[in-house]
Amino acid sequence: MVCYLSKYNYISEREYVIDYLVRLGYLKNPLVIKALKTVPREEFIPEHLRRYAYVDQPLPIGYGQTISAIHMVAIMTEELDPKPGNKVLEIGTGSGYQAAVLAEIVAKSDPEKKGFVYTIERISELAEFARRNLSRTGYDKYVKVIVGDGTLGYPDEAPYDRIIVTAGAPDVPKPLIEQLSIGGRMVIPVGDKFLQRLLVLDKKESKIDKRWGIECVFVPLVGEYGWKE
Ligand code: SAM
Repeated sequence: MVCYLSKYNYISEREYVIDYLVRLGYLKNPLVIKALKTVPREEFIPEHLRRYAYVDQPLPIGYGQTISAIHMVAIMTEELDPKPGNKVLEIGTGSGYQAAVLAEIVAKSDPEKKGFVYTIERISELAEFARRNLSRTGYDKYVKVIVGDGTLGYPDEAPYDRIIVTAGAPDVPKPLIEQLSIGGRMVIPVGDKFLQRLLVLDKKESKIDKRWGIECVFVPLVGEYGWKE
């Protein structure tokens, strides 16, 4: 059976699920709410699964990886607190959806402030999938997808105002702390391979403030400063 959802249906489903997350208290920041209502999640999901785009759960994107559940993107983006004009580094591009949500906030909402998103993916086929999704939706102007080990960061463009890691780490990779600007914030799931907790780090002049958030389950961050394969 072919299941056909029109553009209109996707928009109303998107509005519905985001309003629901607002009612639950997950979403408060108007910039984040607007971005989640604007970016078409269905365009970042493999075609045969698109009808599930607004079911609030992770979905497979191939190569054993997933696009995170909508509430997880909502919570992480709220915790990251990105501002227009920020330079952002994401580790774990996956489908490119989280990068597009960040680009909507830091760049597209106020292009004059020249915000930008750098995102690193270790699986080259997924990086290519994300590039296609970002280009189809017009976010490629504000996002650069890099293939590599994101636990090493991306020193070429450091320091970053915001760093978000969307895979589960055993600990905070040292290069990412070094590449975060003073006054910058990082959000990263830290724990074992099966269960993590979101960690929010605020880098100050002479110290780093740490705050633990909710429990979560991410695919492992694999790399030199992450899990070994
Ligand atoms: N943010 C993604 C999205 O919006 O679709 C979802 C990310 S998925 C949960 C985690 C991704 O992190 C996977 O695509 C995985 O290949 C990637 N990954 C794991 N370790 C990595 C590393 N060291 N460097 C870059 N990417 C990594």
